[in-house]
Amino acid sequence: MSERTGGCLCGQVRFRLTAEPLASRICWCRDCQHIAGNGTVNAIFPASAIEITGGTSAFVSTAESGNQVTRRFCPQCGCHLFADSSGRPGFSVVRVGTLDDPSSIKPSVNMWSASAPSWACLDASIQAVERQPVPPQPAKPAS
Ligand SMILES: [Zn+2]
Ligand SMILES: [Zn+2]
Repeated sequence: MSERTGGCLCGQVRFRLTAEPLASRICWCRDCQHIAGNGTVNAIFPASAIEITGGTSAFVSTAESGNQVTRRFCPQCGCHLFADSSGRPGFSVVRVGTLDDPSSIKPSVNMWSASAPSWACLDASIQAVERQPVPPQPAKPAS
């Protein structure tokens, strides 16, 4: 896989990914539930491998870790696309559902499973971490 493309709901923001993700995880923290309506599926890329066209707006909040998290979204349609953490400089998260081919990245961990709603369907075949996992490791090949 050489590159992937994606964009927001209205098409004003488009992006191109020129590297493979370091990791992909489903996050069930309460912040993610507020922006997505349920868990978010996130892939971590070197920020230098994300080329963005179209302007984004941002909302900054403080995570439980104390890190500042900047979530970037389309100012026209409100679609959340990217997130950056002060604890992870040089890397950005891309919301996998905004990819043109979301099946091209498979998450390997459910994180913050302790705050997932009782109705959430967590894939028992992948690792579940109750809270924040250790910093991202290179993704393991799918088995
Ligand atoms: Zn949009
Ligand atoms: Zn989250």
